[in-house]
Amino acid sequence: MKCTSCNKEVTDNYVRFKCPSCGHEIIRCQDCRERASRYVCPECGFEGP
Ligand SMILES: [Zn+2]
Ligand SMILES: [Zn+2]
Repeated sequence: MKCTSCNKEVTDNYVRFKCPSCGHEIIRCQDCRERASRYVCPECGFEGP
């Protein structure tokens, strides 16, 4: 599994949630979560904090 924001391989300490726009699963590593990096949904292009 890879972080949607930084594309890093994640094993634990990650969060999973659904894209608010299309429901596609978004994965974020702890790094990105702590830095509040933006993500872009690969499905619909939705950008979120
Ligand atoms: Zn990341
Ligand atoms: Zn989406």
